[in-house]
Amino acid sequence: MKALQYRRFGDGPEVVDVAVPAVGPGQLLLRVIAAGCCHSDLHIMAAPEHEYRYGSLPLTLGHEAAGVIAALGEGVSGFSVGDAVVVYGPWGCGVCRNCLQGKENYCTHPDGIRPPGIVVAGAMAEYLLIDHERHLMPLGDLHPVQAVALTDAGLTSYHAIKQSIPKLGAGSHALVIGAGGLGHVAIQILRAMSPTTVIAVDLSDDKLRFAGEIGAHHAVRGDVRAATAIRSLTNRLGVDAIFDFVGSQQTVELAGSVVATEGDITIVGVGKGRLLVGYRSLPFDACVRATFWGSRPDLAEVVELARAGHIRIEVETYSLNQAPLAYQRLEAGAVRGRAVIVLDTDSGNRP
Ligand code: NAD
Ligand code: ZN
Ligand code: ZN
Repeated sequence: MKALQYRRFGDGPEVVDVAVPAVGPGQLLLRVIAAGCCHSDLHIMAAPEHEYRYGSLPLTLGHEAAGVIAALGEGVSGFSVGDAVVVYGPWGCGVCRNCLQGKENYCTHPDGIRPPGIVVAGAMAEYLLIDHERHLMPLGDLHPVQAVALTDAGLTSYHAIKQSIPKLGAGSHALVIGAGGLGHVAIQILRAMSPTTVIAVDLSDDKLRFAGEIGAHHAVRGDVRAATAIRSLTNRLGVDAIFDFVGSQQTVELAGSVVATEGDITIVGVGKGRLLVGYRSLPFDACVRATFWGSRPDLAEVVELARAGHIRIEVETYSLNQAPLAYQRLEAGAVRGRAVIVLDTDSGNRP
């Protein structure tokens, strides 16, 4: 089968032929229809060899997956061949305290989690081996190409936002830094779940326009004047909940400079920025957290939000052979919404 692999440090991803995985007891084989391109894949491919802590190379990329079950291993009982599903990606041990609560993203097993496309073979291939049926969620009437990014762009944003909803009452302000794959879903989740005023920050005119089209009330360019503009939009009170989908030194400092007293800063982007936390370094009772992906219940909830029509992922589709181009556009900040690789040519709206 064809697969997109990161094969050698410093190289770009390549389409290669690999064997279809064999299905063991308790496992399932997914015929992949759609796989999303996440900016984290670029971080994986940019990590210097001495800092690299992902799966061994070659690594088949893709941690957002949707498809149809093609084969069942011995003992699998909850699904049948032909079922359409999305994949919950943070595969934990399944039995630690957090995994038992569905929070496999925070599995406490010393070996950590084993997500496809990050540690084990991922979804940018014709078939994906699923370790256990608990990682699957029925797709229902959602289209796999439209729904695939719910599993990370949607889930990660939802998990980050849900914790701040009590702070986002009428008259409040929320800030989304980076209106890309995750951020454009975050704007829609905020609009669906609260009466807050949403301010988006991004770099280009296209992205600022896009943020407005998908529901941001205000869009601010991420330059040296951004903090002043944001403070004035909040009547100088500051922002009640900030979601940073970039996480660079510049953006975490922006977040720290505009957060309100008792406000939340949630850092989701992997930009290695560091924010100083200590007495009087931020307004009183400001809360700073960095989050990772989301829980299985979070995925069920964000899928329901999509099913109810509250969120619609903007998708650019590419074939597997075009995947390197999709990553180039992602790197350049040119993708509108999420770039999705469509593997099943009958099911997608290929360009
Ligand atoms: P993306 O490239 O689709 O979106 C990033 C957006 O940020 C783009 O629109 C870009 O123009 C904008 N941007 C870049 N620099 C900016 C700046 N200085 N100020 C304002 N806007 C800026 O990426 P994505 O797939 O949405 O991922 C976003 C980040 O979240 C990445 O760092 C990714 O690795 C990370 N991520 C984290 C988790 C997690 O669990 N914590 C999960 C998924 C992705
Ligand atoms: Zn991701
Ligand atoms: Zn666990």
